[in-house]
Amino acid sequence: MDKKMISTAEVLCVGTELLLGEVVNTNAAYISKELAALGISVYRESVVGDNPARLAEELRYALSRADLVIMTGGLGPTCDDLTKETAAELFGLGLVMDEYCLGEIRRFFEKMGRAMTENNEKQALIPEGSFVFTNEWGTAPGMAITGRAGSELEGKTAILLPGVPREMRNMFNYRVRPYLRERCPYTMVSRNLHIIGMGESAVETVLRGLMDESENPTLAPYAKDGETRLRVTAKAESREEGLKMCDELIEAIKTTKVGEYIYGVDVDTMENAVIMSLREDGETLAVAESCTGGLISKRITDISGASDVFLGGAVTYANEAKVKMLGVSEVSLEKYGAVSETVAAEMAKGVRLALGADFGVSVTGIAGPGGGTEEKPVGTVFVGIDSKYGAKVRKLTLSSMRDREYIRNVSATNALSMILELKRGK
Ligand code: ATP
Repeated sequence: MDKKMISTAEVLCVGTELLLGEVVNTNAAYISKELAALGISVYRESVVGDNPARLAEELRYALSRADLVIMTGGLGPTCDDLTKETAAELFGLGLVMDEYCLGEIRRFFEKMGRAMTENNEKQALIPEGSFVFTNEWGTAPGMAITGRAGSELEGKTAILLPGVPREMRNMFNYRVRPYLRERCPYTMVSRNLHIIGMGESAVETVLRGLMDESENPTLAPYAKDGETRLRVTAKAESREEGLKMCDELIEAIKTTKVGEYIYGVDVDTMENAVIMSLREDGETLAVAESCTGGLISKRITDISGASDVFLGGAVTYANEAKVKMLGVSEVSLEKYGAVSETVAAEMAKGVRLALGADFGVSVTGIAGPGGGTEEKPVGTVFVGIDSKYGAKVRKLTLSSMRDREYIRNVSATNALSMILELKRGK
């Protein structure tokens, strides 16, 4: 039989406490997400109480529809824990004592310094021929039960996992995922496009047609740290094929309006993209910061090897510091205020000249929560750049509902993004 047979699945969680609403079914969400990442399509999630008849009925239905059913809960030692017994009966398999599992359970109790009761031995009973997932995080082993050749359930698999979320997640991570990887015909490949200057909904509006058209790869925009990201995910038979499918769609995206705002693909962070770009062209950077208080310098120098491109930065918080260190004009400060287009431009130019850099970047703004005025509310930030490619300043109007950390982070990202913009000739 073809080993790579699992492509559809259902999740079936067992526990009366779930039906009573006492416990939220986080296991189903976790498992479905993990299965999607493996390229296994999840068609249904269901919950049954600790009732063997209803459990058997539900499991039979689920197995009639999907290649795989993942179950959680009801593997404990008490008499209402009947998942394993019910599943074994449905598959027509007897339970046999697994000596290795028994030893593991004994060792677990010894390690915890607790006495092992007789009913814990029941947890080492395994349906004959099952694949065991040992449990070093608790007592109940997990298992994969597969239908016998020639039986009604041939080609079907039920995976039984503990109900306790921590145990279930660890077991999935370390045991089940590798098991499934060997048995599913597809692999999932994702690439992330990094976009700045265009919000999530604007991106979605431009790409709606492509999103509807393309079922595989799929396209999913989402917001992260003041940027928009676009995840392109392909389901393919090999990683190479998946990458090729993603790249073809990325090329199509680049020809749309969104293409102008993409600053990198799988670049991790803006500072990474900037350092890579400057390094490639042998260019250098200097930074003048007010409301970000050194954050840009920190983010740049968090990356090892930043010294190739980063000359230094000045944190000029007070007006006096802006004048003395960067040569900002007192008249500009007086006339326009420290948070202004003119001062941002002078700060960028001043730091660039002071350090002899190819790019000078500046930030001045109101990060809040105090300090805002009607004319310049919290979230008003000017980011400036001065370079051999030209100079410009952009005003950001960030929501005053956001906290100080958010405003500072987004300001830093936007200031850095101007380097890539100028280099692209925008
Ligand atoms: P044990 O080996 O500890 O007896 P078990 O496999 O029998 O575990 P259950 O007794 O069904 O699992 O559940 C143990 C606890 O795990 C529940 O009381 C509940 O708090 C939590 N739990 C069970 N199922 C879920 C679920 N689907 N989502 C989130 N939490 C769950």
